Amino acid sequence: MTKTETANLTETMAQIHRVAEAGADIVRVAVPRAEDVEALKTIVAQSPIPVIADIHFNHTLAIKAIEAGAHCVRLNPGNIGGPDKVAEVIKVAKAHGTPMRIGVNSGSLPAHLRDLEYTDPIEALVSAAVGFVELMERLDFTDFKVSMKSTSVPNTIASNRRLSERIPYPLHLGITEAGTKWAGSLKSAVGLGTLLADGIGDTVRISLSTFHAEEEVKVAWEILKALKLRERGPVLIACPTCGRLQFDMDSVVNEVEHRLEAYADPIEVSVLGCGVNGIGEARHADFGISGAKDAGVVFSKGELIRKVKTENLVDALFEEIDKYYAAGKTIVLDERSAAEARLWLAENEDMTADTPERRAAAEKAKADEEAAAALAAAPKVDEMASPTAGRRFTRT
Ligand code: SF4
Repeated sequence: MTKTETANLTETMAQIHRVAEAGADIVRVAVPRAEDVEALKTIVAQSPIPVIADIHFNHTLAIKAIEAGAHCVRLNPGNIGGPDKVAEVIKVAKAHGTPMRIGVNSGSLPAHLRDLEYTDPIEALVSAAVGFVELMERLDFTDFKVSMKSTSVPNTIASNRRLSERIPYPLHLGITEAGTKWAGSLKSAVGLGTLLADGIGDTVRISLSTFHAEEEVKVAWEILKALKLRERGPVLIACPTCGRLQFDMDSVVNEVEHRLEAYADPIEVSVLGCGVNGIGEARHADFGISGAKDAGVVFSKGELIRKVKTENLVDALFEEIDKYYAAGKTIVLDERSAAEARLWLAENEDMTADTPERRAAAEKAKADEEAAAALAAAPKVDEMASPTAGRRFTRT
């Protein structure tokens, strides 16, 4: 959602372009005044992505927004002036073929649900949403999605789960007033991620206390990418670092992340802080780097490509990525460079480090040894010398 004064066309359009570039599929603008609905006509005509008009309290503005060409109108049927006013809006929406988003917020529930809100806030939210859905159906209008937003993550999860079982319409997800970029992103990831992992939710919005709306879009993409629901651009994997770290990971990871923004392909790129496990931890990565004090290696899909000085690691990584694309998505391997990298890694790998792989290998070797010893100690049975007395058939 844009954070500008909608009537400020220059700033609003600039922000819409920024969120579109960040990967937003749709954008919502607030329409609280007549000058905003006037600006909406230009915004709809110039926006690279569909525009949703966000209306509260004033059904006339909702009608004007539809007439201005809004691709969708978001309203809360509970605060627009009653069912008659909702009916007027829906009549115009039907005539224009405009879909609606019916929004229910925990902070603005209808008066008859206020008591229930204290005893069962989840049922109060769901009842409000179901009531609005039934109103839409009575008006013979089904071109809508429903959102139920709460500042509480558990309530958002529980109410959307319950609503998804009661209505057959698409759901829009969000944690309202989630907070700052750091805390709000985490709350959104937990709340929306849980629902999306359940298969619930059709559109999402991340609400953060930042003027940079594109930051909200980036967070939404990270959630979708983490759940492998959508792909967009590279995925960066970076080790958390530990006491074995051998070079300045922070600046390297930041630079890699920044330079990867220029690539659209969903390649996986890994940055490892040391060679303790060789490159085993990032064997699946399309490309990666692992460094030590003065040198490091570039690798791809578990294969070493080359050794380079630490200060050239990032440039070398991107050289190899660019070569890969220039060769039609084929790894360009120089055997001499690869051999040099293998030798360097073997010399620099900490063979004394206690890694899960080495622990598993040691446990397996011990178990094999014990099994061999048990076999050797087992009493040998000479079948030819076994007793035959009393058997029906005897050895001849
Ligand atoms: S790759 Fe090395 S520095 Fe990074 S977390 Fe693993 S052991 Fe630590």
